[in-house]
Amino acid sequence: MGKIIKVSGPLIVADGMGESKMFDVVKVGKERLIGEIIELRGEFASIQVYEETSGIGPGDEVVDTDMPLSVELGPGLIESIYDGIQRPLDKLRALSGDRIARGVEARALDHDKKWAFVATAAKGDNLKAGDELGFVQENVLVRHKITVPVGADGVVSKISSGDFTVDDVVAVMKTEAGSVKVTMLRKSMVRKGRPYAEKLAPDVPMITGQRVIDTFFPIARGGVAAVPGPFGSGKTVVQHQLAKWADADIIVYVGCGERGNEMTDVLNEFPELVDPKTGEPLMKRTVLIANTSDMPVAAREASIYTGITIAEYFRDMGYNVAIMADSTSRWAEALREMSGRLEEMPGEEGYPAYLSSRLAEFYERAGIVKVLGSKDVTGSITAIGAVSPPGGDLSEPVSQATLRIVKVFWGLSASLAYMRHFPAIDWLQSYSLYSDRLGEWYEREIGEAWNEMRAEAMKILQEEAGLNEIVRLVGMDALGGRDKITMDTAKSIREDYLHQNAFHETDTYTSMKKQFKMLKLILEFDHRARGALVENVDVEDILELDVKERIGRSKYIPEERLNEFDEIEDELAVAFENLIGQR
Ligand code: ADP
Ligand code: MG
Repeated sequence: MGKIIKVSGPLIVADGMGESKMFDVVKVGKERLIGEIIELRGEFASIQVYEETSGIGPGDEVVDTDMPLSVELGPGLIESIYDGIQRPLDKLRALSGDRIARGVEARALDHDKKWAFVATAAKGDNLKAGDELGFVQENVLVRHKITVPVGADGVVSKISSGDFTVDDVVAVMKTEAGSVKVTMLRKSMVRKGRPYAEKLAPDVPMITGQRVIDTFFPIARGGVAAVPGPFGSGKTVVQHQLAKWADADIIVYVGCGERGNEMTDVLNEFPELVDPKTGEPLMKRTVLIANTSDMPVAAREASIYTGITIAEYFRDMGYNVAIMADSTSRWAEALREMSGRLEEMPGEEGYPAYLSSRLAEFYERAGIVKVLGSKDVTGSITAIGAVSPPGGDLSEPVSQATLRIVKVFWGLSASLAYMRHFPAIDWLQSYSLYSDRLGEWYEREIGEAWNEMRAEAMKILQEEAGLNEIVRLVGMDALGGRDKITMDTAKSIREDYLHQNAFHETDTYTSMKKQFKMLKLILEFDHRARGALVENVDVEDILELDVKERIGRSKYIPEERLNEFDEIEDELAVAFENLIGQR
């Protein structure tokens, strides 16, 4: 037990802490606020407190729990909404009302609820850590696998199906070190990644239904991406769209330090959304962590670690998990604030020197892995972090550090957002280092022509950027027929294809099959237009064809009526034949 000697916002310093360890969780003051030791010097401990510290003062007690910051893992995680230190928001509200009181303790999982455990292992089975003992069908979407915990490798000496709480013993393992009772509850330290057997190379895309992403800048399952952009450029909408539509089994969404109403949007919208594949509410695969701007800054870091640890837990069941963090910049700002209060030597722009290693540690916990156990099971975590550089200036330290780590860069542009071209992902600046690797998958699964189509479309966009200069100087009329077609196709790619309204019922999600058909249509018009030019058709007549309007509206064709694309193609063919015939 120690005594507080100094309070500086979320940081307190306590004396008499010689027995404590780094990263121990402590309880501070009469209200027993939750804190974590982040620096130890002899008897003095610096503690970051995850709750508002007003009213706490010198002389108040600090009690070490002798435990590092950990999360509870087990049935009941899905559909939960937690704060940064995994307290369920609904229970907090029930205990203390709308303004969460301090020092409230609420366990992350319901310890009274009974779950139907189905044993899949049998007495006498020789199992390794990670092997399945049984499962709980948590809801229609999630088969919550209960595995042998690390350190309990051995022979199953007792196991039975039945209704159990997370604290009940569901199996007993005979290990080299004696008998180990296994419950459905796991505790995991949040600052350390959960173990796995082997990291694999990502080679399958995580389809998001967002055309600019899936087509031009795809992310692999197990990949890492950043979405940087200035205020209002659409970072949060991109993150929400991925949480809603990404082809993942489990979504962990961390709202980190951003406005509370964005989290409210999630809470209101998600329960109403239905998974296009399963027809089930998307909330049934989602865990939300809300650390909003009005919550203590120190808990921002905890929210990120809590999120990634929960993601790892589901990865270890063999699931494909996607985690979104909005925004990692707010976390970095919290690090800067704590570092300043600790009077550490500041690095660039006041951020601590360890900023990039902290960010890297987070993203490194993503990946596709072979999980522990004797069976060949893979699981993945795909991580997407929003970055909010002040004024959109990517030369600032958080953006720079992030860009050195991630493999996908979806750069949001203020000018595109200003023109209301959403998603405002700048196609000339963004990149995906996974594209080449994923090309094979796209050719196999989507269509042999895909990679060529994609390259051709990107080339047209790049040519447009060059032609724009000329147009600015001498006007559109100075361009030749072929260049006019290029400009027109580029416009069609931008407006009819890349522009995607997140709030439109049909447009919000586009399957790969439909993306293929849409892009093919646009390029087909381009090819036929160039063919008609050669036949001496006037370029203005081509650009005035009515069928262009149908191409523009093709994004609104519902997924179940994709045969309409064939009709448009026929109309396109007839229109050009007529043009050439009339000449
Ligand atoms: P940021 O998080 O970067 O500050 P937001 O994600 O909150 O920005 O986006 C700001 C606004 O831009 C949204 O409220 C919405 O009106 C618009 N917007 C962004 N992306 C889209 C999109 N894909 N479709 C339609 N509107 C969008
Ligand atoms: Mg935002």
